[in-house]
Amino acid sequence: MTAINPEKFVILVVDDANHNLSVIGSILEDEGYDTTFAVNGQQALERIENFIPDLVLLDLMMPGMSGIELCQKVKSQEKWINLPIIFLTASQEQDSLLKAFAVGAVDYIVKPFHAPELLARVRLHLELKETRDRLHQALEEQARLAATLENLAHVDPLTAVWNRRYFEKLIKQEFERNDRYKRAFSVLMLDIDYFKKINDTYGHNVGDEALIEFARVVQNNLRKPDQLGRFGGEEFVVFLPETDREAALEVAERLRCAIAAIEIPHPQTIIRFTVSIGAATYCERDGNFRALLLRSDKALYTAKTQGRNRVVEA
Ligand code: GH3
Ligand code: MG
Ligand code: MG
Repeated sequence: MTAINPEKFVILVVDDANHNLSVIGSILEDEGYDTTFAVNGQQALERIENFIPDLVLLDLMMPGMSGIELCQKVKSQEKWINLPIIFLTASQEQDSLLKAFAVGAVDYIVKPFHAPELLARVRLHLELKETRDRLHQALEEQARLAATLENLAHVDPLTAVWNRRYFEKLIKQEFERNDRYKRAFSVLMLDIDYFKKINDTYGHNVGDEALIEFARVVQNNLRKPDQLGRFGGEEFVVFLPETDREAALEVAERLRCAIAAIEIPHPQTIIRFTVSIGAATYCERDGNFRALLLRSDKALYTAKTQGRNRVVEA
């Protein structure tokens, strides 16, 4: 465990006897801790509600709400569950200690206090809390990293859209779901026209830039539930859930125009390019998602042979 710096911690002391508050307060403050006080359970709850302290020293016996009741209330709230509570007890109250532990106390100190013991227990529980908080943070960070890694495995590194493997999985699931509920859905197969010429004329890096811009523009022209995947070099597929033939053709035409409007500045020129699109809407003949993809691919081929920069439906 790491050594703690008392100045970083706020300790709430709850006791109905003002004398106890001032004795404990000065012991803690002399050590460097920040303190806050409450003279009954209700006031303590208000303090905690306003600002969660790092630790609570809590008198077991108080008029009105007892220490046990207060502890129970605090521990019943998810946001306060890790707040360490140390009970302050008179020696004749030892029987209630079991109850205190049962409601979530981490420790107890018997009155009259011995300052070094009080400080040692406070320090120990703050160290424990800090270690636990750090562990918690590390676990959260690990979960975040795992999620990022998983996402990376699904994403095309150049364009940040779904890669082929993941997209096929996704489209297969969507196909099965939509097929079951007999919902209309469509796919668009997109292939940039004469892309090789961009590479040959301006270099591979400019070609990459064009692919990134292409993917960005397509994504910007889709709705949230639509999915975009990169299938090959300059070939992309869009999955359009709940989209019938007419709507799919509309989307395809919108994409075609948006692509044609892309301008990539280059010294002495502006690079422009077009896209050919094959559109296919699910029909009962499509026994599986591959059949549907194949139809869109054939339509794309027709778009190419008919002169490119156009949408053809399967
Ligand atoms: P078409 O109109 O018939 O589609 O012609 P095209 O030139 O677009 O098609 P072709 O399949 O002949 O060429 C595709 C080119 O895309 C060839 C390949 O080098 C290039 N390419 C594939 N992946 C990448 C990439 O990640 N970055 C770059 N810059 N180029 C790529
Ligand atoms: Mg091409
Ligand atoms: Mg191609």
